[in-house]
Amino acid sequence: MKHFTCTQTGETYPLTQTRWHSDQGALLDIAFHGSFDPDLVKTRPANMWRYREAIPIDSGADVVSFSEGMTPLIDLPWGGRSVQVKLDYLFPSGSYKDRGASVLMSHAKSLGVTQVVQDSSGNAGTAVAAYAAAAGIEAHIYIPASTSPAKQIQLAAYGAHIHAVPGTREQTADAALEAAASTFYASHVWNPFFYQGTKTFAYELCEQLGWQAPDTVILPAGNGTLILGAAIGFREMIDMGVIRHFPKLIGIQAANCAPLLRPFEQGSDHLAPYSGQPTYAEGIAIAAPKRGDQMIREIRNSGGTILAVEEAHIKEALIELCGLGQFVEPTSAAVLAGVSQYLQKHAAPDEHIATVLTGHGLKASQKIQKMLGLDR
Ligand SMILES: *Cc1c(COP(=O)(O)O)cnc(C)c1O
Repeated sequence: MKHFTCTQTGETYPLTQTRWHSDQGALLDIAFHGSFDPDLVKTRPANMWRYREAIPIDSGADVVSFSEGMTPLIDLPWGGRSVQVKLDYLFPSGSYKDRGASVLMSHAKSLGVTQVVQDSSGNAGTAVAAYAAAAGIEAHIYIPASTSPAKQIQLAAYGAHIHAVPGTREQTADAALEAAASTFYASHVWNPFFYQGTKTFAYELCEQLGWQAPDTVILPAGNGTLILGAAIGFREMIDMGVIRHFPKLIGIQAANCAPLLRPFEQGSDHLAPYSGQPTYAEGIAIAAPKRGDQMIREIRNSGGTILAVEEAHIKEALIELCGLGQFVEPTSAAVLAGVSQYLQKHAAPDEHIATVLTGHGLKASQKIQKMLGLDR
């Protein structure tokens, strides 16, 4: 049994439709209990499709893949101790968004779609453009005109049609929504197939730990594509009996754009109107995340929390990461600044903590040059 469910009414729809919202216009989830056999999985190539049976794409012929995933899990010295970090910047398009794009574009291919629309501040767009190119699907990507030149070049190089929209991230989304009225909407926010890909982050992490969950997993909280996907993955593994406990989820936001923080602290599930300030962490600069309520619920139910990091600490973390040989996007540095804050204020001495580096530094080299003062 697998189908779309409306997050408001519970109404269901077949997965074979190109739909991305319910008849009420609400977000969709996918009702599907993924499962796999760990003994079978370990005999397969080291990529995210080794959990094949847990990914709701029926025909192997539709799978669009570069054998991505099973990213390294390393011990990183951080905050006077060691944390385990998954190097998810090492994906073909340079960010973990490939997890979602691989599954979403496989779904599009299975439907016989020839054209997709997507909107993104950068990495989701480049990931969709890469997998669209591999699938022979035409990609129309809507981006804020302010998107970094490196990401725009990457999109163009993949052969995507770029639509640069002046104004805010929200105005870009509106322009894409208009185009999506007539074209398949490959949205990492709306389309729940994306999360069937990002859940493999949790599968890989637990497999790499010998089928155990860490105590705590610290992840970015922008649109929630990683944190919500990871939550799906952990829940499925508990249902399968593969792991025993659901880890505490810690969501990291930039203090300059932290719409989840206040509602979370006030015990509410509902986001209030919020306007943020610019931040180095462009990947999590999402003032009105569509799945914000879901993120708050998952984090609260896990016993975790939301932390907001200051710009100065993002910069410090970036300098420290680069000094350790990890050239990552400022957004990834924000997550590690969050790890520092967690270690100082919340962590128990023997707590097993895992986190992630999400995006490659080459995507933002000009910004990093300025942040590190290398242009002087
Ligand atoms: C998209 C992105 C994030 C976080 O986004 P979520 O949707 O909240 O998971 C973090 N880092 C990078 C580099 C990204 O591209």
